[in-house]
Amino acid sequence: LLRATGVWKSFGDREVLRGVDLSLATHEVVALIGASGSGKSTLLRCLGLLEPIDDGQIFLGDADISDPRVDANSVRARFGAVFQSFNLFPHLSVLDNVTLASRVVRRMPRRAAEERALALLDRVGLADKAKDHPDRLSGGQQQRVAIARAIATDPEVLLLDEITSALDPLLVGEVLELVRQLASDGATILMATHEMAFARDVAHRVVFLDEGRVLEEGTPAEVLAAPREARTREFLARFT
Ligand code: ATP
Ligand code: MG
Repeated sequence: LLRATGVWKSFGDREVLRGVDLSLATHEVVALIGASGSGKSTLLRCLGLLEPIDDGQIFLGDADISDPRVDANSVRARFGAVFQSFNLFPHLSVLDNVTLASRVVRRMPRRAAEERALALLDRVGLADKAKDHPDRLSGGQQQRVAIARAIATDPEVLLLDEITSALDPLLVGEVLELVRQLASDGATILMATHEMAFARDVAHRVVFLDEGRVLEEGTPAEVLAAPREARTREFLARFT
């Protein structure tokens, strides 16, 4: 469904992505792991066309979305993204946060968008918070709203960037449980994470990014339990 080949990205003279090849099949859940600064966030942003790439190609379905002639906004609407910091609109209610994209991007009428948003909020366990403003919610609740907002437009691919890193450890579980549900419902997910236990349990495949390159990839059993590369072993040793 999503395929990147030879993706290069520099900021100034710092080469952050150095020829990344990565693919994601429909319904596949891939965990992207790697040290801080290895380029995980940059890669997610490049794949979702939130950042231009310097070289390489990105395909979504049959379309080359790295072609400068594509309509970037319509491509972005095919992704749902959630980041480490919740990025909810503070001046909007929870309900309006979730309906905004459906109404603006999908041009859904308000009633239909709200009905769908309420169903999604129910699914993430927050139907009773619809009228509240985000600052009234815990971090875990805000992140669940951010996930509801990301899936409100029926994206083909979910890009999740360390969505539990900013959370109180007590609240991490409820957010991961939601991702686990989305995965078992068949969502296609690429998630950068430091939650190795979660990657092991939920991901179909683990990709280890090292200094802007995919150094190793495979099933969780292969990469997490029996890494081939010394640098992967070194990285994983920090989590035990
Ligand atoms: P972390 O685990 O800490 O989130 P990461 O793997 O997500 O790390 P990136 O955020 O992709 O790493 O950053 C990779 C490198 O690119 C870092 O050296 C960072 O400073 C640099 N970088 C990222 N975004 C920018 C930017 N907009 N301008 C300049 N440099 C950037
Ligand atoms: Mg990051």
